[in-house]
Amino acid sequence: MEYDVVVVGGGPAGMMAAGRAAELGARVVLLEKNPTLGKKLLITGGGRCNVTNAEFDEHILLGKFKENKKFLFSPFSRFTVQQTLDFFTSRNMPIKIEAQKRAFPVSNSAQSVWDVLVAYMNKHNVHVMTNSPADGFEFEGGTVTGIRLKNKTIVRAATYIIATGGKSRPTTGSTGEGFQWLKEIGHTIIEPDPALVPVTIQEAWVHKLSGLSLKDVKLTAFQNTKKQVSNKGSMLFTHFGISGPLVLNMSRDISELLKYGEVTLAIDLAPQTDIGALDKELLASLSEHTNKKIKNSLGKFIAPTLAPILLELAQIDPETFVHSIHREERLRITKLLKHLPMTVSGILGPEKAIVTSGGVELSEIDFQTMQSKIAPNLYIIGDVLNIDRPSGGYSLQLCWTTGHVAGTHAAKSSVSSIRI
Ligand SMILES: Cc1cc2nc3c(=O)[nH]c(=O)nc-3n(C[C@H](O)[C@H](O)[C@H](O)COP(=O)(O)OP(=O)(O)OC[C@H]3O[C@@H](n4cnc5c(N)ncnc54)[C@H](O)[C@@H]3O)c2cc1C
Repeated sequence: MEYDVVVVGGGPAGMMAAGRAAELGARVVLLEKNPTLGKKLLITGGGRCNVTNAEFDEHILLGKFKENKKFLFSPFSRFTVQQTLDFFTSRNMPIKIEAQKRAFPVSNSAQSVWDVLVAYMNKHNVHVMTNSPADGFEFEGGTVTGIRLKNKTIVRAATYIIATGGKSRPTTGSTGEGFQWLKEIGHTIIEPDPALVPVTIQEAWVHKLSGLSLKDVKLTAFQNTKKQVSNKGSMLFTHFGISGPLVLNMSRDISELLKYGEVTLAIDLAPQTDIGALDKELLASLSEHTNKKIKNSLGKFIAPTLAPILLELAQIDPETFVHSIHREERLRITKLLKHLPMTVSGILGPEKAIVTSGGVELSEIDFQTMQSKIAPNLYIIGDVLNIDRPSGGYSLQLCWTTGHVAGTHAAKSSVSSIRI
């Protein structure tokens, strides 16, 4: 077979790029080492796939990518969040917008996203080769001349798109092989580090709460008793510690702080209310339940599973009747509602990370086309790029944008008749 474009990696970025190049008329082959495509895509958003973030203000959206913002104006002007929503909704995948502008398929299933991408590629005759692990580039005179497969076959085309992902969740296929090949041809690779990763906690009471989620709380990290970083959002207790969007988004900072010593965290369960007002609310609420046990009287403030644990931390017997609770004891409860302390024991490794930071140095990419500045017939997209971002649909939006832009330009530069 003769091809115009070879795409390596059948994740969201690779599938978008392959479909787009083929839609424009290029003959495209997609190489994927797994027996099936998009293994990681299917576990995104807890299986629901947070497909993008419906933030239409470009400055606010790109601000989430911090110092990398400057690179992204160009590709995001070529394939926007609105175009992502149109891409999926026009292919029979309605989308709903949830808290913090997170967009999900109405079906609540990542399979719907997968189905759209696979149908897009099939419609435009992308040749999908699964069970085809790539092993590196054939590289001559500053251009890529082929992709070498592990079985020694060489697949050639005019242009090549690398979408082999980062190093998070290696069991899905993202083992970072692409980094090595790109390094060999002269690209700078910033060493990948787990980012957006759950945090492990020492205290056993945290593990006992596994499965409990908290909405609209504030989490603050301290080092040497000094406040370091603080954010609001939702979080989840797990059997090893804490996770959820709020924790994932702070994990990078926590990981940095750990390099300098112990990190403690405190949850503020009532961030909208100051401690004085909260104590008054608690007093008022308890006075309505004087003949109840204290463990059954905190429902207005915390989940039933948290009540006995908070009371234990406050050194109050949960069986005590409310009328026997002293002022000092109530103040201890109020204090814990505002400052529930935990000690970080570490962060989980790449096998549990949502994304890894690190990857190809961005100054080596032409962001108008996603073309490599080292090999002009090579395009680099998705998690292979060194772009930090928070959780909330931003990672997949990066895949849609960089994939679409690379697919467009790879097709255009390999097929002279394509005009865009
Ligand atoms: C648990 C979890 C939940 C997530 N949830 C969300 C979410 O809800 N929203 C969001 O925006 N982001 C989410 N992310 C992040 C998101 O999944 C990634 O950013 C995204 O999958 C990156 O896509 P990609 O195509 O660049 O790479 P990947 O999805 O990693 O795909 C790379 C592909 O390349 C293949 N490959 C690798 N090496 C080779 C080789 N040598 N030869 C051939 N093929 C190869 C791999 O098998 C894989 O299929 C989540 C991540 C995880 C782990």
